[in-house]
Amino acid sequence: MMIPIPIPIPIPNPIISLAQLQQIHGHLLSSGLFHFYPSRSKFLDSCAASALPYAAAIFSRIPLPLTNDWNAIIRGHAQSHHPINALVTFLAMLRRASCRPDALTCSFFLKACARALAVTEAFQMHARVLKSGFQADVLLQTTLLDAQAKCGELDNALKLFYEMSRKDIASWNALISGLAQGNRPFEALELFKEMGHGCGMMPNDVTVLGALSACSQLGAVREGDGVYEYIRNNGLDENVIVCNAVIDMYAKCGLVDKACSVFEGMKCRRSVITWNTMIMGFAMDGDGVRALQIFNCMDGGRLGGPMPDDVTYLAALCACNHAGMVEEGLRVFRLMDKHGVRKNVKHYGSVVDLLGRAGRLDEAYEIIVCMPVFPDVVLWQTLLGASKTHGNVGMAENASRNLVEMGSSTCGDFVLLSNVYAAQKRWNDVGKVRGAMMSRDVKKIPGFSYMEVNGAIFKFFNGDKGHPNWRQIYWKLEEISIQIREFGYAPQTNFVLHDIGDEEKANALCYHSEKLAVAFGLISTDEGTSINIYKNLRICGDCHVVIKLISKLYGRKIIVRDRTRFHRFEEGSCSCKDYW
Ligand code: ZN
Ligand code: ZN
Repeated sequence: MMIPIPIPIPIPNPIISLAQLQQIHGHLLSSGLFHFYPSRSKFLDSCAASALPYAAAIFSRIPLPLTNDWNAIIRGHAQSHHPINALVTFLAMLRRASCRPDALTCSFFLKACARALAVTEAFQMHARVLKSGFQADVLLQTTLLDAQAKCGELDNALKLFYEMSRKDIASWNALISGLAQGNRPFEALELFKEMGHGCGMMPNDVTVLGALSACSQLGAVREGDGVYEYIRNNGLDENVIVCNAVIDMYAKCGLVDKACSVFEGMKCRRSVITWNTMIMGFAMDGDGVRALQIFNCMDGGRLGGPMPDDVTYLAALCACNHAGMVEEGLRVFRLMDKHGVRKNVKHYGSVVDLLGRAGRLDEAYEIIVCMPVFPDVVLWQTLLGASKTHGNVGMAENASRNLVEMGSSTCGDFVLLSNVYAAQKRWNDVGKVRGAMMSRDVKKIPGFSYMEVNGAIFKFFNGDKGHPNWRQIYWKLEEISIQIREFGYAPQTNFVLHDIGDEEKANALCYHSEKLAVAFGLISTDEGTSINIYKNLRICGDCHVVIKLISKLYGRKIIVRDRTRFHRFEEGSCSCKDYW
């Protein structure tokens, strides 16, 4: 579980109260100033920012509203919780021939598109901007780019960016954070570097947030160090949101001690997100003890720090879960009731996982059926997984039945159930599960791994032959597979789904993306260097065994961050103690 960096929603503070607005309104009416267009639209503008319904009511009584009146209302809607209303108001404006939209109208419309993720409307506005000749307006260009980037139209945003006559910092930021959030972290980092080299642009706090997010997605420590150095040299570390992102980046890159030293040395006041990020950092690292130490330091907000929120408790539960600390986890779970923090389905999921892993399946089941919120698919999947680990066929069938009733048909569920039957040698049932899978056309999510070598980042898919050195990588894997067999390794072919022979299964396993990445790490880095890998899915059991052996055979420290946690392989064992 990752803690996302919150994006501030531009909701204006209601600085002026409704009573004050009504007073000003009364004054404008009695003095006749309300009919003076500039003062009316100015009033409407501040009114829409703090009391939108009141502004809309006044607006509806203006017989022939002019452009700035419309702009005030469209802007108010664009910043409200229902940005889509800005688009509706704009259409109403077009239907009334009393005035025409100007560059500001277009800009507010685009801001609404960005928040409502209205792609088509953003494109339509782009065409209108070109037709009306507003494209020379740099601010409008930036808003256009921002809307496209936020709507996920990154290629268009890039095209706009390179066409722009002047660039300003806002357009760089829009693009860097758009790329980072749109799963294109490589390009985000490239652009960040380009910005620092001779463009005369100084990255600001928004820019570094985008760059840090890209670094943590890629596990790119070296780049992350560079960004952090820039942050310190330019005083950006006085911004708590930036500090939180640095802690998060180091934790996600596997350097939890570095994250902790940033946490301890912060110049600004820590927010609840700071604490949550640090607890989650230790949780992902499997260090339940230190995670709980930090959690206990908060002391329910009694020491003057922030009150733990639902995310804090979730992070603490995750920590207990990853470290197998069952009793401590149950204590944290009970503390939530004591401190009046509402539990959601994720808290229940974490406790079910905790009990399930410990083999306390009946208690886990009890929690699922008694919880006040409706259990989701993940809860039953967790119970199914635990039933498989502990060979409890009855409970596995129970969980599967619930999953099928909920319409879930992911590959993992079927594989788990078929593995439960296979372990009991109930081949008939295995056949039935496989049949059900085929009839439902169950698809697997493709697995991939990233790794960084000398500042460059490489991506591998399962069975990938796209790398220029793929032959050497495959030869290395062959060498590894011969060597580890001497250590008594036998491929765990039950991690392969396809209905193929054992030898083919072993081959399919051999070229899993994380194995390709490790082999590439071995051939391309100096002896003794540690190898860092990021995997998008959970690491499979076979890769886990193989990487443990590689760490011993080649004397390397190998760190794999998978979807849920870190695995640190050293001297033939893993930091998770095979508990994942
Ligand atoms: Zn694998
Ligand atoms: Zn592990």
